[in-house]
Amino acid sequence: MAHIVTQPCVGCRYTDCVVVCPVECFYEGADMLYIHPDECIDCEACVAECPVEAIFHEDNVPADWKSFIELNAEMALKSKVITEKKKPLADS
Ligand code: SF4
Ligand code: SF4
Repeated sequence: MAHIVTQPCVGCRYTDCVVVCPVECFYEGADMLYIHPDECIDCEACVAECPVEAIFHEDNVPADWKSFIELNAEMALKSKVITEKKKPLADS
């Protein structure tokens, strides 16, 4: 089980979420972040930090966004870990 980053994260990247994660399991993709499912310990700390409610427990991901479960698992492996808050994208 793990937490999943979903659609609302695309293009946001405020990255408030990464600084509260105790196990540093956020990874940075081109236009959104991903959570490594084997590293996430389901502490839920990141959920409240996300201003656009993009993060859900795997069991509670809305039906339209179920594909993000696989996407997080796949993309976390291909992306670089992110542990510090970044400046938001200029257009976000
Ligand atoms: S705070 Fe939410 S929208 Fe922003 S990077 Fe984290 S998960 Fe994505
Ligand atoms: S639920 Fe906890 S361990 Fe999982 S990504 Fe969020 S802050 Fe990190």
